[in-house]
Amino acid sequence: MERVRIFPLSGLDTSTRLRLKAAQREAARVWMYCVERHHAARLAHAPWPGRQELQEETKGGQYALHSQSIQMITHQFLANVETIAKLRQTDTRHRYPYHPKTYLTVEWPTQAVSRQGNTLLLPMGRGRKSLRFHLNGLPDQFGAVSLVWNGGYELHLVVSSPDSIPPDMPASPEQATVDLGEIHLAAVTTTTGKGLIVTGREIRSLKRQHTMTLREIQKKLSHCTKGSRRYRRLCYALERCKGQAKRQIRDLRHKATRQVVNFCQQEDVQTVFIGNPDGVRKKDSGRHHNQRMARWEYGKDKDYLQQKCQQAHMTSFTGSERGTSSTCPACDRRKKPRGRIYACRHCGFVGHRDIVGSMNMHSLAFGSRISYPPSLTYRRPGPARVRWRDEHPLPVARTGTS
Ligand SMILES: [Zn+2]
Repeated sequence: MERVRIFPLSGLDTSTRLRLKAAQREAARVWMYCVERHHAARLAHAPWPGRQELQEETKGGQYALHSQSIQMITHQFLANVETIAKLRQTDTRHRYPYHPKTYLTVEWPTQAVSRQGNTLLLPMGRGRKSLRFHLNGLPDQFGAVSLVWNGGYELHLVVSSPDSIPPDMPASPEQATVDLGEIHLAAVTTTTGKGLIVTGREIRSLKRQHTMTLREIQKKLSHCTKGSRRYRRLCYALERCKGQAKRQIRDLRHKATRQVVNFCQQEDVQTVFIGNPDGVRKKDSGRHHNQRMARWEYGKDKDYLQQKCQQAHMTSFTGSERGTSSTCPACDRRKKPRGRIYACRHCGFVGHRDIVGSMNMHSLAFGSRISYPPSLTYRRPGPARVRWRDEHPLPVARTGTS
């Protein structure tokens, strides 16, 4: 199985940062050459440039990059063209690459990369100094490397981990369902009679905090002359801020989904059903609710869960979760819950709303019913975050009366 290890490059000196910037600009130049060449061929009804032509035309030291990095860009371009050509057979609104790029991710294939101890060497073409990065925890075996801008430079290393052989155990019949949500990132129930709730409030609060910081910067930006030194500094701060929030949220998302998979492993679950909330998301339910839904990235949760299930040798599949959150698991009457508690007027059933959703999925996905779990486990994705102010309370002001 292939994974990507991400190394953030923090604390770069100015000259290195400028070199990385120049490399990405150079990569974009190669891309733009391909775009223009392809466009010209299309206009002239001439044969489109293929792999051979593009490689031939971009080599010879015109670009300050390693020859194989240039090749990778041309290959990526041709792959894009191929995909678009396929898509255009059904819908001609898809456009061939046209958008002007200033920067592009630079990639090095496996055979171009080398190492000296913990130092990674990335060649920049004949006659130019290689880029050198001292990375702690550089894996023993790795493949292609890419230089990515993600609100700060990052190196993405492809690491292939050997597929662990599935343990030779009799297949367990236990099943679990996962109900994805925004406030509770995941609610899990298993046929072993256990329930887990992983909260997503932390992610939501991070997003909110992030939006407020962005607003502050935007407000300052609006008073600046475009292109001035202060303007550029604020733009940089904006990017850095975005990058930080993205990384924090990604980290929490991985930790939350890890909790779910670990719980399933503990319960010896073999099959996992992940409810697909597409229906909830696509429904138009007013401005405020729509925005809340748009900020909710359940697709990533689904992806991460599926990947982690695969690693743990569990089968996972998704399907519609229609009606699961509004049906009473005891008497099958329907009622939309308000708030976090589901209470049925007809039979008196009371339970956690998301757990109810997850319970009802069992009958949808596996055709079986389970009873309400006697005890629920609550987890948060990461360690509790303590605010600096809580740890350093303000001294209590003394009043004159004593
Ligand atoms: Zn009921």
